[in-house]
Amino acid sequence: MPSSPQPQHAARRSPILGSALPLGLVVTAVGILLSLSGAEAVDAPQAAIPVLPEPVVVEAVPEVQVGATTAADPCSERSVLEAIAVADDAAIIAGFGGGESFRAAVVAGNAPCVSLSDPAHVWVVVNKARPLDPVDFAPSSLADIPLQMTTRSGQARSDVAAAIGALAADAAAEGAGRIGANNGYRSYDLQVATHASHVRSSGQANADASSARAGHSEHQTGLALDVVACDSSCGGIDAFGGTAQGAWVAENAWEYGFIVRYEQVGTGITGYKPEPWHLRYLGQELSAAYHHGGYHTLEEFFALPAAPDYAH
Ligand SMILES: [Zn+2]
Repeated sequence: MPSSPQPQHAARRSPILGSALPLGLVVTAVGILLSLSGAEAVDAPQAAIPVLPEPVVVEAVPEVQVGATTAADPCSERSVLEAIAVADDAAIIAGFGGGESFRAAVVAGNAPCVSLSDPAHVWVVVNKARPLDPVDFAPSSLADIPLQMTTRSGQARSDVAAAIGALAADAAAEGAGRIGANNGYRSYDLQVATHASHVRSSGQANADASSARAGHSEHQTGLALDVVACDSSCGGIDAFGGTAQGAWVAENAWEYGFIVRYEQVGTGITGYKPEPWHLRYLGQELSAAYHHGGYHTLEEFFALPAAPDYAH
């Protein structure tokens, strides 16, 4: 296993980031901030020496300040602009103030630099009403999924492959059993064949309830994969929901950046039957916001219309 279960495991047990920051560090950081804001006060006489406030003021600085800055126009924040320049999704989300702030800004129409249609980003939403654009999109970086595979579609985006490796290692370490994978990335052409095969075997309506038409599959983004439960050998995707691995994934996948994309309660919105095996990568910031917000579909998370059917 390429992952390192221990650090990941340890991280899961202390979810409150920053709670262990030494006070000295905070005071230093605030001191720097105060110096900077002093430097920007160009109207003040140059000779004026800013009098540093007593530590009481320090306690009032964090969080409120951040929220106030990011709410105005997150896309013009320097940290966001720099993160966009290097296509660092996690840093862009952090620049918005975290997953929930990012979601709220997008929903409020206050994030013109974020497109939910761009399949190169973790926040893309692909469904029956939102085909990939371009329709034959392919991810720029793919890596082998570090799990036992039951098909040849054994690749995903490199960040997704690393995340599922960590997830599977922790599931095994916690006694939930071994997790393998069935399908990761599927190209446009492969999706054409996959869907056609479903139509041949079960008819158009049944096929559309369980298999995406080409250009409408999350698998084509490299952000999704189907997992299976393995013992001495691996089971199929349909059996996954009833396994110990399935229960563990349903409870813990969000901590690794994944959501179970198609749940029973979401069928009327997504147009898909429940798929406990289909994991969609959002990155840890957004999956945590999704989990803590109690969402069950990505459409609701981003306040998008339901998409139970294809337009034609
Ligand atoms: Zn799938």
